[in-house]
Amino acid sequence: MTARLAPRPDLELVAGYHSARVDAAVRLNVNESPYPPPAGFREALADELASVELNRYPDRAARRLRSAIGELHGVEMEQVLATKGSNEALQALCLAYGGRGRVAAVFEPTYALHSHIARITGTGVAVGERSTDFSLDATEVRRVLEEARPALTLLCSPNNPTGAADSPETVADVVAQAPGLVVVDEAYAQFSPWSALPLVSRNAGVVVTRTYSKTWSLAAARLGYLVAAPEVVADIEQVLLPYHLDALTQAAGLVALRFADEMEERVKLLVAERERLVASLSAMPLTVWPSDANFILFRPLDEHGDPEEAGRALWRALVERSVLVRDCSSWPRLAGCLRVTVGTPAENDAFLDALAEVVS
Ligand code: PMP
Repeated sequence: MTARLAPRPDLELVAGYHSARVDAAVRLNVNESPYPPPAGFREALADELASVELNRYPDRAARRLRSAIGELHGVEMEQVLATKGSNEALQALCLAYGGRGRVAAVFEPTYALHSHIARITGTGVAVGERSTDFSLDATEVRRVLEEARPALTLLCSPNNPTGAADSPETVADVVAQAPGLVVVDEAYAQFSPWSALPLVSRNAGVVVTRTYSKTWSLAAARLGYLVAAPEVVADIEQVLLPYHLDALTQAAGLVALRFADEMEERVKLLVAERERLVASLSAMPLTVWPSDANFILFRPLDEHGDPEEAGRALWRALVERSVLVRDCSSWPRLAGCLRVTVGTPAENDAFLDALAEVVS
């Protein structure tokens, strides 16, 4: 027997990315929608699936889905690329434009998968730092862009896990300076006051990624997309596996778009609940960051002890009360921080009750 083959040596540098798998009645840790898809969705999906020819490969170009997404955003089908979750869109961008000898710039703290996906695709990572309030700092952005000359500049607006959207002026400034493509990850855009989508039509160097996992209540289906210039979409298509997007997922995405009004109603509800949560958290001995997304970052006010330990202890105390939030307490720049997803009013009440019990 030969020795077990070791994986690529550069994978040693890449740490895994996982949320804790813990049983809890109230699960507010991965920013999903707390609501199932709207009434009528399952029946409409069943109808749509009835005509799927399961013995045939799916439409490789996902034409109907891409046209419908294009219609939603007022762009051509050729500007849309549908993917298995928006993570696949990010991976495809790195495969097409990154790779050996090329760099992606990220501004931490941000969505951990940005640097993770860059590394697993063999793309170098240039790390810039967000300011102390987690906004993008123009001087730091300029430094990173000038030093690293990144092929890809990855922004996340609203930013996960800190919550706030970058301002339109800031994003326009990055776009004006970046030597390569600027990718704006808008997984949470529907909760935010603005979107970078109009920039795509004005600038071939901007790509926006979106997901069905949050507002469309379809995290289980694994569907996302990007909107970009047609030539960018054509470049990225070259690195996708044939038939990467199955017919069932394409059908689910198509049907979901018929329920846009219901989706927007749910977004309004979640935004109202977010504001209620922020107000309640702000009245507790916690630091709370503003949010334009469906989650809120907070940290216990513990001036004396070890902040990381204080955050972890709070996370454990919530788990003991059957409330699961995201433990970011050991992440760089986020010592002691926890991130809670906005749930249903009942889930949010359960979270607030458990939290009040622990921190007061
Ligand atoms: N981008 C951001 C900022 C996210 O928070 C997430 C989900 N955690 C994703 C992308 C990936 O979403 P999906 O692959 O489910 O579309």
